[in-house]
Amino acid sequence: MKPQQFVVIGLGRFGSSLALELIELGYEVLGIDHQEERVEEMEGQLTHAVMADATDEGIMRSLGVRNFDCGIVAIGDNMERSILAAILLKELGVKQVVAKAISILHGRALSRLGVDRVIFPEKDMGIRVAHQLVTPNLLDYIEISKDYKIVELIVPECMDGKSLSELNTRAKYGCSIIALNREGGGDNSIIVAPTAHDHLNKGDIMVLIGSNESIERFEDEAV
Ligand code: ADP
Repeated sequence: MKPQQFVVIGLGRFGSSLALELIELGYEVLGIDHQEERVEEMEGQLTHAVMADATDEGIMRSLGVRNFDCGIVAIGDNMERSILAAILLKELGVKQVVAKAISILHGRALSRLGVDRVIFPEKDMGIRVAHQLVTPNLLDYIEISKDYKIVELIVPECMDGKSLSELNTRAKYGCSIIALNREGGGDNSIIVAPTAHDHLNKGDIMVLIGSNESIERFEDEAV
């Protein structure tokens, strides 16, 4: 079942933006931080914001943390506290525990302790921004395996008015356009599985799937 209730531990930049986005998406969020000012900033914006030390078992029990579907440890400044908070969430029976790691070793320790998902926000963002800098038309990408990815690219001027059959990405490069999003957005702007007769317009967004190599060739030669 999809998690409905989240507890976010550590309301720094990462924890608070994650918590606020979950609220925006319609979920219930308890935010915990041991610094008063961090809690005050979040009060009224989260379902509950509480000042507490997340490594204190008694307090975490009294807050009913075990009833939450998902716990996120967003303590970025102290590895020991992050590990203790993650162990406590696991021991209290939180179904899914996610933790932010500040180093590879920290990440490895969290995984060994049974944390369900370890994230490296700074490392991941660095990689993402590097890709966007070397491919100016790139909006976003998802790695679906080591060798395959999905990318979102802005249609450049040189492709304006061309049909997918003219572009012929599958035969020429080995990658396929799986969706188009017409410039300007709106409800009817998305074409899923476009046909050979669909045309591209400058400024549209095209979504491609293929091997890393085929997509890089497309980006270098066609875009
Ligand atoms: P970011 O890089 O996301 O801004 P920070 O390291 O600044 O991360 O923020 C981590 C937050 O975690 C801080 O607000 C800090 O007060 C909080 N924190 C650290 N240890 C604990 C703890 N034991 N219990 C609750 N909150 C904690």
